[in-house]
Amino acid sequence: MVETGFSASGECVGCGAPQVSPAVCEACGEIFEIPQDPFALFGLVRSWSVDSSALEERYSALSRAFREKSAARGELRDRLSEATAAVDAARRRLSDPVERAQYLLISYGGVEREKPLRKREFQSEVMEFEQTAAKARQEGDSARLAGVVLEAEEKLGSAIMAAGQSFTRLERSLVEEVSGAADALAEARFWRRKVDEMREFLGR
Ligand SMILES: [Zn+2]
Repeated sequence: MVETGFSASGECVGCGAPQVSPAVCEACGEIFEIPQDPFALFGLVRSWSVDSSALEERYSALSRAFREKSAARGELRDRLSEATAAVDAARRRLSDPVERAQYLLISYGGVEREKPLRKREFQSEVMEFEQTAAKARQEGDSARLAGVVLEAEEKLGSAIMAAGQSFTRLERSLVEEVSGAADALAEARFWRRKVDEMREFLGR
């Protein structure tokens, strides 16, 4: 049970075994409602830095339960194919940095843009790139074309890295600010008790 990383959250409606996965009962194959949140589906903390070995481990555990337990129950057939597809999609979503970034962006209340706001800079970069690419294509210069692909790959890589840095800073400051708020709340409660005590004393 614990090896999958899930903690029991109630009992399976099918067999009464502790429900260790939010998606499927590993004991009887019962399929539960698949969480929309791909992190929750695999019992992972919502974060840019996904533990890929934990993800793969949990994905295998779910797949095994579907394959070995759910598939043996004919009445689950329709839900099984749906659930398998949802789990596959969730895994892709977490493994692909662009998909993961999109999910995190939206979950933090952001909206995806077609183009970056730093328009002019981006546009001149794009224009320059398109010119080089068009020229290389026209001339059939394969070495140059390979260079163009490499350049695009580098741009992709640095854009992903920039997204990761933003999310990491955001997560770090979120942790710090939540901790700051928890400290402030503890203080506020202490002083409220003092105020109440003193007021009561004065009122007497
Ligand atoms: Zn069960």
